[in-house]
Amino acid sequence: MNFLPQEFKNRMKTMLNGEFEAFLACYEKPHYRGIRLNPLKCDLTTLEAALPFSIVRSPFSPLSYYIPAETEKLGSLPMHHAGAFYSQEPSAASAVTVLDPQPGELILDLCAAPGGKSTQIAALLDGKGLLWSNEVVKNRAGILLSNLERCGVANAVVSSCHPEVLCTSLAGYFDKILVDAPCSGEGMFRRDEQAIQDWSPEHVKACAVRQLSILESAMLALKQGGTLVYSTCTFSQEENEGVVSAFLARHSDFELVDCSQSFGRPAQLAMARRIFPMDGGEGHFVAKMKRLSANENYPVPYSVKNKAQAAMAFDLYSQIFQAQCSRSVEQVGNYFVLLPDFLPDLKGLGVIRVGVLLGEAKTKRIEPAHALFMAAQPKELNSLVNLSHDSPEITAFLRGEEIEVDAGLRGFAGVAVDGVVTGFGKCSNGRLKNHYPKGLRNN
Ligand code: SAM
Repeated sequence: MNFLPQEFKNRMKTMLNGEFEAFLACYEKPHYRGIRLNPLKCDLTTLEAALPFSIVRSPFSPLSYYIPAETEKLGSLPMHHAGAFYSQEPSAASAVTVLDPQPGELILDLCAAPGGKSTQIAALLDGKGLLWSNEVVKNRAGILLSNLERCGVANAVVSSCHPEVLCTSLAGYFDKILVDAPCSGEGMFRRDEQAIQDWSPEHVKACAVRQLSILESAMLALKQGGTLVYSTCTFSQEENEGVVSAFLARHSDFELVDCSQSFGRPAQLAMARRIFPMDGGEGHFVAKMKRLSANENYPVPYSVKNKAQAAMAFDLYSQIFQAQCSRSVEQVGNYFVLLPDFLPDLKGLGVIRVGVLLGEAKTKRIEPAHALFMAAQPKELNSLVNLSHDSPEITAFLRGEEIEVDAGLRGFAGVAVDGVVTGFGKCSNGRLKNHYPKGLRNN
């Protein structure tokens, strides 16, 4: 434990009193690891049958499970490629459990990359309503998009925008907002050496200032009666109870409400929750607030602008899917997207993706996108090549190789692992030409 900063230990001792020794003892043990089932793509029985290790329910969300500490190469498993699960430290699922997304709601995840909580929100929205996932750091927004695509999320907007600009433009728009704030990461100390190196009392203070300012922006975008959840993966009272108390002191039109969960333990503000390693997770703080005041500056709705080549896009859609396309299609540059419902005007908000990428315009044709198949249910597709998770064919497909298929298959076909769509290829003469994106392939 000598690797822990002395000042951090002093603070934890003051906070935990008699439990400090138990807290320190956790640093002698392996850290918790977990996955979260993605019900948009897979059911538990199918996932469990395909995983090479056993999983155990965690208390932090009905979709979350512990995995063995020694698990290797999680990201190269076929079920991971297929988006059947998301790798997530178990207690990190607690914030969305408190947010409690309901199908049909409009939800903003303001600090969203790499997308653990966004993919969890999307799973609970079940394709209904809108998820707006924002990440201010541009290159992290790319990772966020890739994770949302892998998990088959069709009703999201991904943006990279400063919280103040975004929330001013989208004033009063959202039913629920999650601020999973950048923090000093004390809850990462057991698994990330760098978080320990970066820690200092000055960093904690700077984080608290930034967290309050993010909350000040977030509140602008919330409807009357809407829910604002604030979470961090740090233990510091300054960044947790301190930030929430400072926010509430400045905004009497917000009230703290009970998290109504039994995991972890009550925080110093008793309605909020804390999770320490002694509680079965690496560390999280969650507080839930409600906006009492009116907020009626709704943004104008989005109007579909460029319908130029929509006929070609609808034609491609019906080559791939059994049903007609029921969504609006828009051309953005060379790309075609299937728009989600409930879009507000997007101008000036750093939007990098809306809905599902359908394909890219080439000379006289549209090349279908990987994301289009990832968001598809197997039963919706005209052609599907279903492979077992332990077959040599799925290993070859995920490496980008051609595979042998039924000689009767022609044209674009989804490729699934145990019935979970994980990409596509083009079939002719009993072969499937591989369209699995190069950057996602296994070595
Ligand atoms: N919610 C994410 C998840 O579950 O995968 C993790 C979010 S992480 C704790 C906080 C995020 O806030 C980081 O991706 C970081 O880049 C972003 N961030 C950094 N500075 C920010 C700021 N000033 N405003 C908003 N977000 C910021």
